[in-house]
Amino acid sequence: MNKINFNFSIDIHSDLKDKDVVGKDRYKEHSSNSNSGKTNNSNIDSKQTKEVDENWLFCFDSLKNVSRSFNIVIKQLDDETMKVVCIFYLVLRGLDTIEDDMSISSEEKKQMLLNFHNDIENDDYSIECGDKPEYRNLMKNFYKVNRTYKQLHPKYRDVIKNITQEMAKGMVEFLGKTSMDTTEEYDSYCHYVAGLVGIGLSQIFTISGSEFNDLTKYETLSNSMGLLLQKTNIIRDIKEDYDEKRYWWPKDIVCKHFSSMDDIFGNRGEAGDATGILVITEKHTDLLNEMIMNALRHIPESIEYLSLVKNNTNFKFCAIPQIVAVQTLATLFHNPNVFKKTEKINKTTLARIFMDTNDMNSILQFYIDAVEKIEKKIVDSDSEFSSKCSGGKLHKYVDELDKIKGFIIKYIIEHSKKPVTNISLTKVKKSIISTFISIFQKNVLYPLSNL
Ligand code: MG
Repeated sequence: MNKINFNFSIDIHSDLKDKDVVGKDRYKEHSSNSNSGKTNNSNIDSKQTKEVDENWLFCFDSLKNVSRSFNIVIKQLDDETMKVVCIFYLVLRGLDTIEDDMSISSEEKKQMLLNFHNDIENDDYSIECGDKPEYRNLMKNFYKVNRTYKQLHPKYRDVIKNITQEMAKGMVEFLGKTSMDTTEEYDSYCHYVAGLVGIGLSQIFTISGSEFNDLTKYETLSNSMGLLLQKTNIIRDIKEDYDEKRYWWPKDIVCKHFSSMDDIFGNRGEAGDATGILVITEKHTDLLNEMIMNALRHIPESIEYLSLVKNNTNFKFCAIPQIVAVQTLATLFHNPNVFKKTEKINKTTLARIFMDTNDMNSILQFYIDAVEKIEKKIVDSDSEFSSKCSGGKLHKYVDELDKIKGFIIKYIIEHSKKPVTNISLTKVKKSIISTFISIFQKNVLYPLSNL
């Protein structure tokens, strides 16, 4: 494969930046407080402290440069976990940068990937690679990441090193492949580049002592969290990935509707070449909807995982990208524009997610809202089809969506503060509606510019 689309956080609008609490500012503050009470002011100590501080600042700066969306979400974490996760992210980003660099020969790349979990222990490690300036800068100064990695407790270093090694093995397995043949292969690829990140995060949360539950026991659920995010990115980015010759959509799904990936983008209207406007047919939306249904199947495990995360900062960090993903899938469902440009959720929804992701009750409403948005599209499409007397093809998804919705409703009832016996589904629905009205009102009072 010529490019792994590794991103364990869903992209967020670049204009929705946090203006106040930037990770590195939090680090600066923490660092100056902890130094203020020191009585030993020897030159050696202060030189070493300064170097450590500068390395940390480089890491948070790099994080901001290589992933704006992740830089926002990571700030939900407490200081210690934030530092560990920052290094975890940068190390995996380093691995991915090597994997994505097409100027490196296959054999050399294989060795570099397989050695990377040892290279992160090298205080002087620096390489020239990367296809973007911010990645090149990270790789050139990677010794700074390594030196901060050494500041972490060994229990965290073990997790980072092991996950890096596992991910590298997966990248090597997919090196040279030009497409995904089966859904199993697609799931396996997503496991390596995103599921493993979920598994690593579960380990970090558990060994930090901040979680009541031992999350390391739930590898399947942790993996599903990553798969939901990765699949959403892969679906959303179909146009951009196709243009860069990265084919992630599995052939066994694509070939139910088209003869090949090229066939999806092949019908260019009258111009008949790449400059012509892509003609979207029912086959496009059928394929898209099938890909989305495949991703939606991870919702129950995503909810099950989140219900196990008891620490509020860890919960928000995990839940926000999941909610952004399911809301994105609702936006993409039956939306032909996906084949023409990168579609994203609207800013109002995004703002609501950041404001109202607090606990299980709040997130379950976002999940059910996403499923209901999809159901509404099916109902609308049914009436559109019946007016044309051709029958609603989307109806085949109703039963499966009903099951997912039933799972969410079950969790809403379990997490409701009211006694279960007094709750009917109608009441649950009314409570969802009234909550959304209040969300809307809050949103009017707190527009995006105040975020
Ligand atoms: Mg890659």
